[in-house]
Order: sequence, then C-alpha cells, then structure tokens
Amino acid sequence: MTATPTSSALSLEFSSLPFSAEILEVVRELGYEKLTPIQAQSIPKLLEGRDLIGQSKTGSGKTAAFSLPILENLDLRGRRQLQALILCPTRELCTQVAREIRKLGRRHAGLQVLILAGGSPLFTQLGALEKGVHIAVGTPGRIIDHLSRRTLDLRSVKTVVLDEADRMLDMGFQEDMEHILSQTPTNRQTVLFSATFPRMIEAMSRAYQKSPVRVTIADEAGERAPQIQQYIYEAELDDKFKTLVYLLKKNATGSAIIFCNLKATCAELARTLSNHGVSAEAIHGDLEQFERDRVMAKFRNGSTRLLIATDVAARGIDVENLDAVYNFDLPSTPDVYTHRIGRTGRAGKKGIAISLVLPKQAARVRDLEEQTGVTFIREKVSNLEGVEVALMTEELGEAGAEAKMETLHISGGRKDKVRPGDILGALTGEAGGLAAKDVGKIEIHDRFAYVAVAKHVARDALQALTDGKIKGRKFRIHLVQ
Ligand code: ADP
Ligand code: MG
Repeated sequence: MTATPTSSALSLEFSSLPFSAEILEVVRELGYEKLTPIQAQSIPKLLEGRDLIGQSKTGSGKTAAFSLPILENLDLRGRRQLQALILCPTRELCTQVAREIRKLGRRHAGLQVLILAGGSPLFTQLGALEKGVHIAVGTPGRIIDHLSRRTLDLRSVKTVVLDEADRMLDMGFQEDMEHILSQTPTNRQTVLFSATFPRMIEAMSRAYQKSPVRVTIADEAGERAPQIQQYIYEAELDDKFKTLVYLLKKNATGSAIIFCNLKATCAELARTLSNHGVSAEAIHGDLEQFERDRVMAKFRNGSTRLLIATDVAARGIDVENLDAVYNFDLPSTPDVYTHRIGRTGRAGKKGIAISLVLPKQAARVRDLEEQTGVTFIREKVSNLEGVEVALMTEELGEAGAEAKMETLHISGGRKDKVRPGDILGALTGEAGGLAAKDVGKIEIHDRFAYVAVAKHVARDALQALTDGKIKGRKFRIHLVQ
C-alpha cells in the first residue's frame, strides 16, 4: 500500500482538478469552495482509476470523494449500462448517497441512479433495471436478492464502492459483499471507505483490491498515530479490587478487557462484578466452545461491557477498538504486555492501558519500561475509603455498569439460508418497526444466528421476531443471558 502523508495543509480547489465543466459548475452552485482533506487526497487517485482504502470521520465529505470521480468517468452515451455499484449498510444510507449523487450529477443529462434496498418493492426496481441505470446504490442483502433472481448483471461495472465497510462487516454482510465482488469484472476499480480498520477490513482489502492507495485523515492534527496512554496504579493486594472499581468509574470505561494472570482470579472478578450489576463476563480455557462463542459474540456486539480474560483465553480473539485495557495483574513478559494493550487505541482513537501493580513490583515495572520503551504515567489512588464495592452499581452509575446492547438468539443460521439482510429486514421492516441504528452486529452461524439490538428496544425486537417470520419461516427466538 502507498501511504499518503496527511500533514500538508492541502487546500485544493475543484478547478485545479481535471473535472468536466458540468461538475465544476455544480460544485460552484452548491457552494463547495475547496475540497475537503479526504477529497483532496482521494479524488486525484480515483480519477486515475486507482483502488483506494480510505478513512475519515463522519461528515468529512466521503460521498462526494467517491461520487465525483464516478460521475467524471461515466459514459452516458448509447444504451444505459450499469457502471458503478455502491454498497451501503442500510437503506437510509443508500437513500442519502443516491440523493447526493443525483445532486452532484444534476448536469449529467440522462443520468439514471437507482436504489436497490429494501423498503421499495422488487418489481419497481425490476422495471428500472430493465430500462437500464448507470449507477446503483444498494444494500448487500437486496443486491444478492437481485443477483439470485438474475435481475441484475454486474459484468459492465467499472467501479465498486464499499461505503462504511466496517459497519457492513458488523452487520454480518461479509459473505454477501464477497459474493457481490465476485460477480463484478476483475479489472474493476474497488474503493473502500471505513471508519475503522479492523483486521477483517485489511483482509478484504488484500483480497479484493489491487495495490490500493491508502488515505487516512486524522480527526485532529497529531491524532493519527494510535495513542495509548499507559498508566501504572500502585495498590496493595487487598486494595486491588477497590482500585479497579475506582478506575472503572473514573474512566467511564465503555468496552474493556481486564486481564488476570490466573483463571481463578478471572472467575472471581467476573462473579463479583456481575453480582453487583456490572455487565461483565469471564472467558477462560475451561469453557466449552459454544460458551466461548456466546461470551465473545456478546462482548463484540456490545451486550457485555467488560471481558475478564487470561492470556490463554484471549489468544486468537479478535476484538479491537477497546476503550481501555486493564491489567489486573501485571503480565509476565514485555511481549505479553504489548500484545494485551495493543487492543486499545486503534484507528487513531485514544486508548488507555492501566496496570495495577503491587508495591513490591516496582523493579518489574522499571524493567517493563526499559524493554518496551514507554514511560508510564504513575498514579496512586490516595483514598479508597469512599469506594464501596457493595454500592458498585451506584458507584459506576447506571450508564457505567450496564451494557448498551442485548443479544437475541435466532434458531436458524446459514444452513437454513438465513442471511443478515433477512434478520435486518424482519427487525426494521413494517412488522419489526425498529430503527436501523438500533440494530447492531449480526452473526450468522451454521444453525443459529445472533443479533444485537439496543437495550431499550430489546423486548420489542424479541416480540417482533417471535411473532413475525424470517425468510417466510418461524424460528425460535430468545434473549441471550
Ligand atoms: P461522510 O460520508 O464523510 O460522513 P458526507 O459525504 O455525507 O460525509 O458529507 C457531509 C456533508 O458535506 C454533505 O452535506 C456534503 O454535501 C457536504 N460536502 C461534501 N463535500 C464538500 C465540500 N468540498 N465543501 C463543502 N461541503 C461539502
Ligand atoms: Mg458517508
């Protein structure tokens, strides 16, 4: 991948790029004076036909970044052919993107942009597809529907955009996206925008892109490199637990892993925390595979706030973007330390790593500093008297103790031909009534599926799925405890 520097105060004018008069006129009418940073770095490369993987915060103008080059390279002559396909996670996002493209393409006479998402009947989409469109914006689920009915042909597509790719992965659309990509020409241009770069995104980029240009726009200057603030808190053995509670409260910790060196410590920590109303679960080597899967699914989708783990149990679990990593026990080697804390502070976000150490471990802390090259921020809680473990839920506050999501188990999976779009549709369609933003990760297994929904709508979601059908079939649904 080619790294692109972000430091320069690039303030590129639209007129300095090889855009057609139509596009220059439209951006002038819209009052766009300069390209936004993500546009300044992406558009020249996209105009050249390069593949690109890009990241920048919401509202930074990514839609125009990929839409303008698509419009610029569009062939509007002759029979209408589908030239660009844009995949978005939800119907609402498809609508927004299509609206923006129509706005930017308003001087392209004859331009046809079609939304392929749920909420609009298949037959109206069929009609439009038969007449021919230039650009389609759709959800993976609906596009797969069309592909399997052979009502959509992707062989003429020149550019595929995966917009909000991480969110599509979260929603379980990986297989669908891969299938869709496999139906497009291999010499296509592939553009991927994502708010975060978890390993799966990197893997998809490697599998489906050709020497992509990588563009990352930091939120603010200097925030580009992952930053992990690394703290050391000294505590006597008997005070460790209270110190942890104090720190969980102080840091308003969202999603975090707490590492312990022993299985028994994990189990005890998890038990004490959850007995006091804190959303916490332990993962350790003694769990059956299906229990591990359940614990991990709930943690990944936000239904469990704190995961208490040993190093052995945490091996191979791919959770990233944690708000914090706690070392309840100091790890045995610098490598283990680095591996543990590397799960926070990804994607340019700030992360914190907090290690509790016993007074007698001072020399080990110094060794760790030397070997890892970091300087720890040393702190000590001067007064633990106010920290009442029995009052933990109050201590942490409702918002600090509970998880935001709940997980529903659906008794149908891949082998029952249940796909993420079916579940999303059942929840957000007329019968379900949920907003797409209240639906979280969807995980499809062979014989069952998990879907995370916002806690305040969990009961409604359970009811809707129990009363309704998925893929025309009844499944058993329950809340996962
Ligand atoms: P993102 O996808 O990065 O979250 P959007 O593409 O939705 O952001 O853009 C956010 C807003 O910025 C939109 O209303 C869009 O019209 C506007 N916008 C895009 N490019 C420019 C520009 N160069 N100058 C001014 N406004 C712009
Ligand atoms: Mg966007």
